[in-house]
Amino acid sequence: MTGPFDKMVGDARAQFDAAPSKPLREAWQGMGLADIRSDLVRRLGEAGIDEAAVEARHMLNHVLAPATLAEALADPALVSWQRVAHLADLAWERLQRKPLSQVLGSQPFWTLDLAVTPDVLTPRADTETLVEVVLSRCEGQEARMLDLGTGSGAILLALLSERPGWTGLGVDLSGEALTVARGNAERCGLANRAAFVRGRWSAGLERAAFDIVISNPPYIVSDVLAGLEPEVREHEPALALDGGADGLDAYRDILRDVPEILKRNGMLAFEIGYDQGVSVSDLVRAAGLSGVAVIRDLSGQDRVVIGYNGENR
Ligand code: GLN
Repeated sequence: MTGPFDKMVGDARAQFDAAPSKPLREAWQGMGLADIRSDLVRRLGEAGIDEAAVEARHMLNHVLAPATLAEALADPALVSWQRVAHLADLAWERLQRKPLSQVLGSQPFWTLDLAVTPDVLTPRADTETLVEVVLSRCEGQEARMLDLGTGSGAILLALLSERPGWTGLGVDLSGEALTVARGNAERCGLANRAAFVRGRWSAGLERAAFDIVISNPPYIVSDVLAGLEPEVREHEPALALDGGADGLDAYRDILRDVPEILKRNGMLAFEIGYDQGVSVSDLVRAAGLSGVAVIRDLSGQDRVVIGYNGENR
């Protein structure tokens, strides 16, 4: 005789068998959490992932929440088969070299926790240099910012979170990225000071309207992109990475309009690649900006170029 529970068990079994992560689910069946953890670290390492132990901990904490890994190691009752199945699903994706940010759906940046999808570049720690540079050089209570190629909205939102009197406009060519950015503005409680529009750099925007223009445009040389790690090459948007034959296409495009978009004495701040300090500062100077400077990141690499619209800097 079969009853409603038999059907539920049957459905759960069918779902278990259909999951792409079935090999992991099977391997971990009946295993304790400590052994699952070791096995996960080993598999991640074998897949070529450098920070295998750290990443395993992030995944474990994610599926065990609100319990922590430490609590669950001490109390097997906190580890249900559903949580193990969820871990197997996440681990399976990560083993295909999908970035951890996309697997978990979020990434910490500055003091924020931002939603990340395959439609946006995962916010990088290096990019916090750009946030610091703007904060240290722009002390006004009020400012209107423009973020060109906003992606997840990371830079714009980090700056708004530090300056309660500032407002910002984020532009992106990708409608999908704008959906992520708008969601992040809501998630961070900053939606009342952040607006987002679809567009190609600053085309069609009001002239002389912005105190600060920021951008982390695509700057990887096209030929170099193909040699990057699979997380970047296969899972992050080329639109956010590919800077053309010499990596500088986006800077040239943006600089055509920047002097007109910036208010007088307004500041431009670009993120750049480690070897682009000279080439991008030359472009910024050639566009007529003054006070051009290159700033390094915490690893000592050139990372940001700034310039001002006006002579008195
Ligand atoms: N820093 C990024 C990387 O190396 C590139 C970011 C960009 O092109 N804007 O993956």
